Amino acid sequence: MATKKMILDLDTGVDDALALAYAIAAPNVDLIGVVASYGNNLLNKTAKNSLQLLELLGQEVPVFKGMEHSSTTNHFTVMQVSKEIHGNNGIGDISLPEPTQKVQTTDGIDFIIEAAHQYNKDLIIVPTGPLTNLAAALHKDPQISHLIGNVTLMGGALTVEGNVSDVAEANINQDAEAANEVFTSELPITMVGLDVTLRTLLTKKETQVWRDLGTKSGTAYADLTDFYINAYANLGIDQHGCALHDPLAVGVAIDPSFVTTLALPMKVVTEKHNYARTIGDKARLNEPQPNVKVAINVDQKRFVPTFMEHLTKILANH
Ligand code: CA
Repeated sequence: MATKKMILDLDTGVDDALALAYAIAAPNVDLIGVVASYGNNLLNKTAKNSLQLLELLGQEVPVFKGMEHSSTTNHFTVMQVSKEIHGNNGIGDISLPEPTQKVQTTDGIDFIIEAAHQYNKDLIIVPTGPLTNLAAALHKDPQISHLIGNVTLMGGALTVEGNVSDVAEANINQDAEAANEVFTSELPITMVGLDVTLRTLLTKKETQVWRDLGTKSGTAYADLTDFYINAYANLGIDQHGCALHDPLAVGVAIDPSFVTTLALPMKVVTEKHNYARTIGDKARLNEPQPNVKVAINVDQKRFVPTFMEHLTKILANH
């Protein structure tokens, strides 16, 4: 199997941090860059978080800056609930040394476009935040929709309720207009939404395994994940652990057999009523080959141990 090239588009974020470690540790994939997005925190902060985590994990992967705010606004402020779930600094308020590497001077949107032309079908893009960066890349170079091998994104909800409103999931809700452009493009997309991510669970039993490694990264990852687990409990969302939202998208990008999918032409509602709902587009229902596959079931009994195996391996070494 040819090694796939992966770009992570992260709004780092605790579960983004877990997704990052998974992508580094998993075999058969080469992480060629991280594009930062606003979302769980401000762009500058999410970019810095990615740099710090990469250094913690002993990696030299370039980090690029994407868009600072949604496609329909000119500024972004961090939501209070994001601070409660991910901490004021986005990574569970753990403290890490200042990064020695700098953010790349190349724009993140241009990096995505260049990588699409260079790697074509071998390129997988995994957005685990708003879809603003990908929509901006499509605007700048529409040709990339025919080049990129696959976009496996964490976002949306088809068969379950949303987590921002009855119908909206948080990443899509940040920029439903951008998400709609991505979903209705010709990009081959796998949607890994709340339908499946909420069926994965990580508990303090697992984070204790990382803590017991006695390494810097094992302790840091146990601390930031425990913050997230405690936050979910404090908010009354889940008393048992945390869902592996962003890591599942990375897992599915590498091994699509973790989920079963429904092929469906999808759209995102941009009107006020039902804003950011991800739903089948009835105007395109008869398209012979829908561009979107929606994950509707997950083999969590295989995914969670695979996630643990990869994370524990990398955290043991740094
Ligand atoms: Ca995220």
